[in-house]
Amino acid sequence: MEEFSIIEKYFSSQTRQRKNNHTVLGIGDDAAIINVPAGQQLVATMDTLITGVHFPVETSPRDIAYKSLAVNVSDLVAMAATPAYFLLSLSMPAADEVFLKAFSTGLFEAADEFGIALVGGDTCKGPLSITIQASGFVTDNNYVTRSGAAIGDKIFVSGQLGAATLGLAAIQQKVNLTDVQTTHCVNALNRPEPRIDLINLLRNYASSAIDVSDGLVGDLGHILTSSEVGAIIEKSKIPAYMALHDHGLFDFALTGGDDYQILFTVADKEMTNLIDSAKQVGQELYEIGEIVKQGYVLVDQDKSIDLSMNHSTLKGFDHFVS
Ligand code: ADP
Ligand code: MG
Repeated sequence: MEEFSIIEKYFSSQTRQRKNNHTVLGIGDDAAIINVPAGQQLVATMDTLITGVHFPVETSPRDIAYKSLAVNVSDLVAMAATPAYFLLSLSMPAADEVFLKAFSTGLFEAADEFGIALVGGDTCKGPLSITIQASGFVTDNNYVTRSGAAIGDKIFVSGQLGAATLGLAAIQQKVNLTDVQTTHCVNALNRPEPRIDLINLLRNYASSAIDVSDGLVGDLGHILTSSEVGAIIEKSKIPAYMALHDHGLFDFALTGGDDYQILFTVADKEMTNLIDSAKQVGQELYEIGEIVKQGYVLVDQDKSIDLSMNHSTLKGFDHFVS
């Protein structure tokens, strides 16, 4: 199957069935044309997923596509941007129609769920690798960054941590889970749900935010570095996936990646509003600690564990550190 027929059959035709307000010109020309609504700013992000690195080689093409888009949308959410459109660069070893059909299904499942439109891309032959460039909009500088955390702010995480890493351990046969747990954890790994439901809340109340892609300790560390502050977090308040306790793997909630919850900080004066508005929409948020002047500490009952870079064994995932 040749390149143009692939693009037409699995990507272009699907985009024509979908309506999108921002796309002036989508797939088919040398580049796409997008309308940026007046008064809004473009927020751009890109993530690559490589087979065997970002997903186990046996992952289904449908899940690979879903996850590739989900992780990009999660980055937009962390900035409090509303997802708008994306470009897909797909490198694959052969024009395998079974693969392409499943991949395209997963891609558009995710695109429809997250309200984001495919407007172009690139297709080439090579080891399986998916790069997505996703963009969203914010109004009037109403974005959230990693650098806005201030002393006294409370630290929140938007949901359960550690299930995705436990799912990976289950696939690698390093742990024995019940069937129910396996399903839950493998699903958490392969089908992360970017927290688009939190965009407004973050926009209105967060002083800083990041999505937890590489592990809580490492990702909170990024906020602390960017904001030039410290933090104290409490182990008992971290919403770890329950089965982690049974397996003595609580650390997965601290250092395991791939959960794509949002970690954010909120100033004291916004706390009441935050809690009220989270309640109104039924969002459960977990307050896990507080921003302080300096240092990075995990309180575990009567012990204090130093998480700062030089001392800690509890680091986030880094591709270049083995
Ligand atoms: P060019 O050679 O001019 O770069 P291509 O042949 O790479 O053009 O792509 C033709 C059109 O198809 C372009 O509009 C491009 O954005 C789109 N396209 C290519 N690959 C993909 C893909 N995997 N998904 C979506 N659109 C794609
Ligand atoms: Mg071109």
